Amino acid sequence: MSLLSVDDLVVEHRSPGRPAVRAVAGASLTVSAGEVVGLVGESGCGKSTLARAVCGLNPVTAGSITFDGQPVTPLGLRRRRLTGIQMVFQDPYASLNPRRLVGDQVADGLRTARDTVTSPADLLERVGLPREFAGRHPHEFSGGQRQRIAIARALAARPRLLIGDEPISALDASAQSQVARLMRDLAVDAGAGLLFISHDLSVVRLIADRIAVMYLGRIVEVGDTAEVWADPRHPYTKALLRAIPKPDGMGVLPAELPGDVPDPVNPPQGCRFHPRCPHVMDVCRGKEPDFGPVACWLHEPR
Ligand code: SF4
Repeated sequence: MSLLSVDDLVVEHRSPGRPAVRAVAGASLTVSAGEVVGLVGESGCGKSTLARAVCGLNPVTAGSITFDGQPVTPLGLRRRRLTGIQMVFQDPYASLNPRRLVGDQVADGLRTARDTVTSPADLLERVGLPREFAGRHPHEFSGGQRQRIAIARALAARPRLLIGDEPISALDASAQSQVARLMRDLAVDAGAGLLFISHDLSVVRLIADRIAVMYLGRIVEVGDTAEVWADPRHPYTKALLRAIPKPDGMGVLPAELPGDVPDPVNPPQGCRFHPRCPHVMDVCRGKEPDFGPVACWLHEPR
């Protein structure tokens, strides 16, 4: 059984006097214990909204999220710490309390896990930082060091599922793959699942066992990382890989692909990708391909 199971999830953002925006529009995804799943897609495709819903931070409009056999429901921050899910956020500057010592912030997680043996300094050492950093404040560190502290704090609570929501995008290039690999190694060593969200395909390729590709609120392709990389099947996945600028295959997604970017308030009928797809057929305009692992009429399961 999967540790995390997201089934046909819908999350709408509503604000008074405005039409509802369906940020997640029927997405399904699983993560097993000890598995790393990379969730990729252009900015605004719903990746972060999905992650926040998994953590109980966004209410679910329809569909379901099950973690460890139990339904996930919206929670306050305090109760969320007890669920076994921890999240590392994009901005390491905003996610740490500037007034509290680093060691005290890591100790919060240890208390949650009722761990009286491990010290905050032990955890800092595990994420590659000197033990004495426990006695300092967050402003004394670089972005990469702060993100390591945020990872130490998340791991202190002994999560069974770790979620990284663009955890490397605010870091400089040299720190990015180090921090991504660190998250993978620590999560897998602890037997936890890792859902790693990034627009950086090159890093996801290095650390993920499986890749899920998201477009306008839906997962359009999911598969083994090496297979998706070698033989992408959904036209959107192909376009993403083609758009990687460097010939060595390392690079990041472009801000947007060629073609019209649809309005999430009013998404296209049928396949959401059809206004940008070079292979569009009549059926694509009328009916949404509602199947996996490749949600495209060219790859309908028989
Ligand atoms: Fe293109 Fe049709 Fe496949 Fe959508 S369903 S990606 S429009 S071929």
